Amino acid sequence: MTQATTQNLTEHLRALPGDDVRQILWRFADRYDLQMLVQSARAVARGPVARLVAEGARNTHEWTPGKQALLQSFDESGITAVFMEPSQGGFIEGPKNLALALVAFELAWVDAGAATGSLAGCLALSPIHERGTPEQRDYYMSRCAPAQPGEDRKPWRGAFCLTEPIPYVGVETGMLGGKVRIAEWKDGEEPLLHVEKRGRFITNMGFANFVTAAVESDDPRIKGTCMVILEETDPGLFDRGTPTRKLVHQLSSTRDPAFNLKVPASRIVGGYTVKDGVIVPRYNHGEIIEAVFRRTRVTVGIMTSAKLLSAVEPVIRYGRGRFRGGSVSNPGSPRYDLGLQLKQDVVHRLVDVWATGEASASLGFEAARLFDRLDPLERQKNEIMAQRGITGGTAMLKAMRQVQKEAVATLSGAGGAACPDVLVSFALLDSQANVLCPACKLWNTGHGARMMREAVSLMGGYGITEDCPGFLGHKWMDAQLEATYEGPEAVQRRQLSVTMTDELFLAQFKQWIREMRLIANDRPGTGACALATAMQMWLWTLTHLLKSTDADGAKLYQSARQGVTFPLADALCWLLSARCQILDVLELEKHGPANPTVAEGLPGLLAFLTDLCHVQSARSAGEVGRVCAELVFGYNRHPAWDTEGCSACYRADELEGMESLIPGISSLARGYTDVIESDGSHPAKAGPCVRFDGLDQFSRLRVRMDGCLTGSQLAKDRAAEALTKVMIPEALDYPA
Ligand SMILES: Cc1cc2nc3c(=O)[nH]c(=O)nc-3n(C[C@H](O)[C@H](O)[C@H](O)COP(=O)(O)OP(=O)(O)OC[C@H]3O[C@@H](n4cnc5c(N)ncnc54)[C@H](O)[C@@H]3O)c2cc1C
Repeated sequence: MTQATTQNLTEHLRALPGDDVRQILWRFADRYDLQMLVQSARAVARGPVARLVAEGARNTHEWTPGKQALLQSFDESGITAVFMEPSQGGFIEGPKNLALALVAFELAWVDAGAATGSLAGCLALSPIHERGTPEQRDYYMSRCAPAQPGEDRKPWRGAFCLTEPIPYVGVETGMLGGKVRIAEWKDGEEPLLHVEKRGRFITNMGFANFVTAAVESDDPRIKGTCMVILEETDPGLFDRGTPTRKLVHQLSSTRDPAFNLKVPASRIVGGYTVKDGVIVPRYNHGEIIEAVFRRTRVTVGIMTSAKLLSAVEPVIRYGRGRFRGGSVSNPGSPRYDLGLQLKQDVVHRLVDVWATGEASASLGFEAARLFDRLDPLERQKNEIMAQRGITGGTAMLKAMRQVQKEAVATLSGAGGAACPDVLVSFALLDSQANVLCPACKLWNTGHGARMMREAVSLMGGYGITEDCPGFLGHKWMDAQLEATYEGPEAVQRRQLSVTMTDELFLAQFKQWIREMRLIANDRPGTGACALATAMQMWLWTLTHLLKSTDADGAKLYQSARQGVTFPLADALCWLLSARCQILDVLELEKHGPANPTVAEGLPGLLAFLTDLCHVQSARSAGEVGRVCAELVFGYNRHPAWDTEGCSACYRADELEGMESLIPGISSLARGYTDVIESDGSHPAKAGPCVRFDGLDQFSRLRVRMDGCLTGSQLAKDRAAEALTKVMIPEALDYPA
């Protein structure tokens, strides 16, 4: 630890982190447009949204005039137009993932239903934005943009309709009940389609003017599946259906609609070609929803982060004021001033809530920024590929596999891409995005919901009433919806179990381990050491499970074995979020001094946030250790070390490959009689082959990791003490 940091640890946190601090942590200090957007969104959240909640608007799932009025507030404040290009009525140039994430954060700070209502409009437009034809994009985006001064029109609202009544689409998005047929196809004219689709739980359905719906062909003259755009004025039935009797997110409109409409074939998202008399949609519905969800899920993850961080101030205020009555509590006495904060458990638990909020926000905003970097690269990649005559499908996959190999070679320093850097850069970021997006959706919402319960519990009985300051009870329940819609946790775990084994991702993950080791050298107070060792342990466990079998000889790492793949996916999320948290604090350390507002009180703030990192890294290491130990040992039958079967023996060259991961493994393994020849045969030797499955290495890593936890509880004590001293405003700034 640097000398300066040691001195800083004696300073306490003065105030809760303000906007200037957040702008540095989440890297938008140089984006004035985003800073203004945050202020506008906050005014809506803490004004009309907070008032609606306080008035009890959440007590009904009906779409009321008060809720409808929110849409106008979104339009007037610029929230609606964030999604659009300047040429379509928007005001933000370039990628908008971070912008949307910041809006979601501000709205969800007060009410995630309001955030969802605003984002559902973007979700409806997303299929058109990501895969629509230029004409479709211009037509729908400009109609959804709020009216400009002098214009007299109402903006269109949209809904995204994938989920269908049981037993059709839910988690399994391929089980489409919605159908599309050819209604009429006159020679030389555009075909007319007949679309039948029923939806379940469709957001914005109370007022949507158009719907992007997933359907499957029920006609030999249409190929496969697609998404189609349905408008409320199309001939036929556009039935909004009954409102969903939700327990959560009551400021958004959700219904079960039914559609039976005739629409021109030009409404197929992305267009189509005609081949041998058959309409071939350019994109099937799976390709479109994948492109959509990989971006929109990040914003959902951010919503739960906002709730956790928004809980800090109300919980502190409640705790401090709790014992101000009675004769034993005099002003100036610790009992009067600190109230419940005198009890260690209360402040320790709040430290955990806060640390989780920081880590999840760090992960979410990193994912949003990553997509901002990825979007232009993806466009360039598509252009380069199109010049080579590759536009998608298996040809694109094949071409990208080659690029990925070059990217791995580039990372390992073994030469690499002679072709444009754009492709390699895209491949690197894409493999990260494929992990960060599901990780953020999964961990922020799933673990976040658990931690919201902790926050609620710290408010006692108030926590589960409508009167709870900060609406914490509502937020707890709402978090469960965030964990469910746009794909529940099982969907994210399933995706992670594939993307986290990608060679290119793992190559970068190894670099991240080295990065954490370097940070640990200079700043052990961050907990980077424990985190690096936990990352090593996770990687070791994945490598082990990928090649191991259980006691009955069945392969361990395979898609059907969710008992193996899912916990490992969960464990990875802990690591990724703690890593992002540490990197954000380093960013603040670097740039904070240059900002006069931040510089004042920076040492205390940095010391506190560093302690939160330590707490979170230690907690993550503990979680990873538990998951990995269960998986590594749990599939052996006791006694584990049988003398038959050599499926887990290592070849000498494999061991050398693992040396970078676990220094000393090859020399240790060679002490056993289990290193087999490169052709898989066993060297001639006396006695039976002793099964070697590296368990000793695992145990050594565990012991090392336990040692890395040194100081983490002291960090928690310090952070808890800081919570008893930090200044908070007299009253919550919402509802007005
Ligand atoms: C308020 C609200 C708003 C919504 N808004 C929209 C919207 O605007 N548009 C839209 O299209 N949809 C919307 N949805 C639907 C939402 O996306 C789905 O509810 C969600 O994707 C889950 O589908 P399901 O309810 O059919 O669950 P199911 O598919 O029945 O799954 C239930 C549970 O079973 C388990 N499970 C299922 N499959 C697997 C598997 N393969 N592996 C392991 N476990 C599995 C998981 O634990 C899962 O959570 C909304 C839902 C709600 C509640």
